[in-house]
Amino acid sequence: LVSREAHAQSTVIQVKDAAIGGQDIILIAGPCAIESYDQVLSAAQRCRAAGATVLRGGAYKPRTSPYSFQGMEKKGLEILQQVGKETGLATVTEVIDYESLQEASNYVDIVQIGARNMQNFRLLQAVGQSKKPVILKRGLSATIEEWLMAAEYIMASGNLQVILCERGIRTFETYTRNTLDLSAVPLIKELTHLPILIDPSHATGSARLVGSMSKAAIAAGADGLLIEVHPNPCKALCDGPQSLDPDAFAYLSKQLQRVASAV
Ligand code: PEP
Ligand code: MN
Repeated sequence: LVSREAHAQSTVIQVKDAAIGGQDIILIAGPCAIESYDQVLSAAQRCRAAGATVLRGGAYKPRTSPYSFQGMEKKGLEILQQVGKETGLATVTEVIDYESLQEASNYVDIVQIGARNMQNFRLLQAVGQSKKPVILKRGLSATIEEWLMAAEYIMASGNLQVILCERGIRTFETYTRNTLDLSAVPLIKELTHLPILIDPSHATGSARLVGSMSKAAIAAGADGLLIEVHPNPCKALCDGPQSLDPDAFAYLSKQLQRVASAV
């Protein structure tokens, strides 16, 4: 089902104002974690003004340490939904298990399967039975074949609205959080009909690298970007060092339009 051979025409997934996989570059932006109404509203308004059409925000955070902030869960989803309504932005949040999928489905337009759950096959099947568009991130050490098979699980269970997202893979390099595999963009375009996004924030772990990798991703043919933006990155409860502030995001968005029109 994922294969380009089976489906020559590229898939476009329409979510509110965002045609993901269509002509325009899609910008999905917002904080790593939902922390408060004011924080999400401020990020959302600024990102929307800069051209974002989808608002991201984590309510269930799969953190490396059990002592790190784990997310606001249902309260966070209420905030995300409220801000989505107020700004007209579509919304996306990560789900980490069956229960969070059921809960989040009542609040958001798109669900995200994170890198750590890319091969949680029961979760993939459950998402496959839901009607929501799903962003499927590439696993930390997943091959492109394994990633596409994970997408196949979702599609084989009945949900054809799958959006792939490359977010960097584990290598020996330590200057970056992960290593962005940009070759995934043309490969995914060749192998599948599904939209492909790049997440330069988790790929690099460093706000100062996000701009260059975003421009490279658009030049390589990505359908859009998923970028962490926080109104005050120094105070972020999660992933502050890789988050752009709203001014940096607005500046980058302008540059991206120029890259997009040049390719
Ligand atoms: C996220 O997008 O907040 C996230 C946790 O990403 P990843 O699953 O790519 O690490
Ligand atoms: Mn994050």
